[in-house]
Amino acid sequence: MRIILLGAPGSGKGTQGPVLAKHFGATHVSAGELLRAQMTESTELGRLIGEYVRAGELVPDEIVFEVLWEPITSAAAGGGYVLDGFPRSLHQAELAFERALLAGVTADAVVYLAVPDDAVRQRLVSRAAREGRSDDLDPGVTERRLRVFHSETEPLLDFYRNRGLLVTADASAPPDDVSAAMIAALDGRSRPSAP
Ligand code: AMP
Repeated sequence: MRIILLGAPGSGKGTQGPVLAKHFGATHVSAGELLRAQMTESTELGRLIGEYVRAGELVPDEIVFEVLWEPITSAAAGGGYVLDGFPRSLHQAELAFERALLAGVTADAVVYLAVPDDAVRQRLVSRAAREGRSDDLDPGVTERRLRVFHSETEPLLDFYRNRGLLVTADASAPPDDVSAAMIAALDGRSRPSAP
């Protein structure tokens, strides 16, 4: 199974990604984690990525593809992928679709974790206390990430809805309920329809 998870920062992608991956025997591929792993290396690439991540801006597409494409295709060659945080803009989605089509690894479904902005703000404050992520600490950065989500990532909802791939889950519910609702919706999609 190949799944794309969409949602604002703090919508629960990092929590639900591994749950979905386990359920479908796929690999959770987190764009944010892979980019943050590069930031811990003392390389020019890691330094550059850090500038964008700390500012709450999108890392340029060519860097994102350089870091993510290999993990995505290896996951696809195994039991599939659950992509968390990629694609994040229409341009990334179009490029990823073209490349995935060539490789025969396009997504089977897209799950949107819908959550109001105020819940995002509260969740990021608690995540900052729990995980100490510098991009969660600064309210200015949170607002920028929310703006980037609405302007760059939200248009993907129509892109995937038009392709018949979109499933929406109410992500303000407790995490176990969100997992159950997503899995039920995805299992429902993959069952052959009644005659
Ligand atoms: P996340 O852990 O998904 O919240 O991502 C943390 C940060 O990594 C984002 O605020 C961006 O700066 C960067 N990032 C993650 N995924 C992408 C992507 N697909 N394209 C560009 N930047 C990204």
